[in-house]
Amino acid sequence: MTLTEQYKRLGVSEAVYAYGERVLASLAGRFAEIDRMAELNQAKVLAAMQENRVDATCFAATTGYGYDDVGREKLELVYANVFHTEKALVRPQIVCGTHALTVALSANLLPGDELLSPVGAPYDTLQEVIGIRPSPCSLAEYGVSYRQVELLPDGGFDYPAIAAAIGEKTKLVTIQRSKGYATRPSFSCEQIGELIRFVKAQKPGVLVMVDNCYGEFVEECEPSDFGADMVVGSLIKNPGGGLAPIGGYICGTAACVDRCAYRLSAPGLGQEVGANLGLLPSFYQGLFLAPTVTAGALKGAVFAANLYERLGFRVVPSAAEPRHDIIQAVELGSEAAMRAFCLGIQQAAPVDSYVTPIPWDMPGYDDPVIMAAGAFVQGSSIELSADGPIRPPYAVYFQGGLTWYHAKLGILLSLQRLVDAGLAMVEGDS
Ligand SMILES: *Cc1c(COP(=O)(O)O)cnc(C)c1O
Repeated sequence: MTLTEQYKRLGVSEAVYAYGERVLASLAGRFAEIDRMAELNQAKVLAAMQENRVDATCFAATTGYGYDDVGREKLELVYANVFHTEKALVRPQIVCGTHALTVALSANLLPGDELLSPVGAPYDTLQEVIGIRPSPCSLAEYGVSYRQVELLPDGGFDYPAIAAAIGEKTKLVTIQRSKGYATRPSFSCEQIGELIRFVKAQKPGVLVMVDNCYGEFVEECEPSDFGADMVVGSLIKNPGGGLAPIGGYICGTAACVDRCAYRLSAPGLGQEVGANLGLLPSFYQGLFLAPTVTAGALKGAVFAANLYERLGFRVVPSAAEPRHDIIQAVELGSEAAMRAFCLGIQQAAPVDSYVTPIPWDMPGYDDPVIMAAGAFVQGSSIELSADGPIRPPYAVYFQGGLTWYHAKLGILLSLQRLVDAGLAMVEGDS
């Protein structure tokens, strides 16, 4: 079977396939740059494993308290090496990204302290953690106050307002690297570094935490290379390489990470406990694959941006923009188009390909949300997935793909479903 025939078998018409190939032909330079980044990060990860003498003893399962867990300790040394930090906490007991961020914040903020976000509102789930939306056990309940400085209309940092917001009580500054589900730009490590230098010049002792979700291995550096005291993320996104079935990480200064360990387990216990339950092989191997997997997802994002922008849809980031995370937004303009797009992504999945995504009223959201995901790991968004709230501008947020080829198929099928529904047109399709 030829490739065209295989794509046909998977549901992609010759016209859509041919259009995709024309778009791809213009992306050789972009893809070469992504490959170069993957190569750099692969070398970085590999060197970290070699320098820490990773061997088969690291893969043994531990249970119970998990004392003397060599594999767990080495994995944390490997992460610290990759992120160039003094220490790391990498655990399956960190249940998701929000949990990792919660641990980092609550471990390093005490009653009377103030938290500052100089980059506008944080990710949805953090609003309850902080207490922006009242919630039991929020930081607000424990006497931690919060301030927020909005970004400038062009997405830049509002330095005068940030300077004015830093006060006596300001203890920790949180910076979200990825736009998440907002319409602002994502930040490069360089930009984050500039912001860190600024806040530390205002108040030298202030701590800076970066929410690094979706940003790992997209650039050759990480925010920890630019002065962040903590970088935090989820293992079912980029750094788990698609293999980690659960987990989160916090890399940072010894002072900060030690406190995180005490918060996660218990004061006095810290990093000494926490059985690995046999998950370490997937953590190591996932990290090993993460630079390549992230590169595949990035190619998918760039391909989607170019494919849809040429058809007249607004895409964020735009086709030619540099990337700081793996998220791609496509504004589709109608609920019908969102449904068609998500159906295509779902039908491209290796798991649950036969189900039809429909919008539903998700807790915590004002509008129904539609989600397409056919993942090996539930909710894993390093795997090919798309979602969005049903409201203008009817944008879907698209991310992931364990391989570039799978991301490509998903994008082609999303377009195919739009074409089938008469919501988009490519040359040659009737
Ligand atoms: C995904 C994400 C989170 C939360 O991670 P969960 O694993 O969904 O809890 C936080 N911040 C950003 C920017 C994210 O993308």
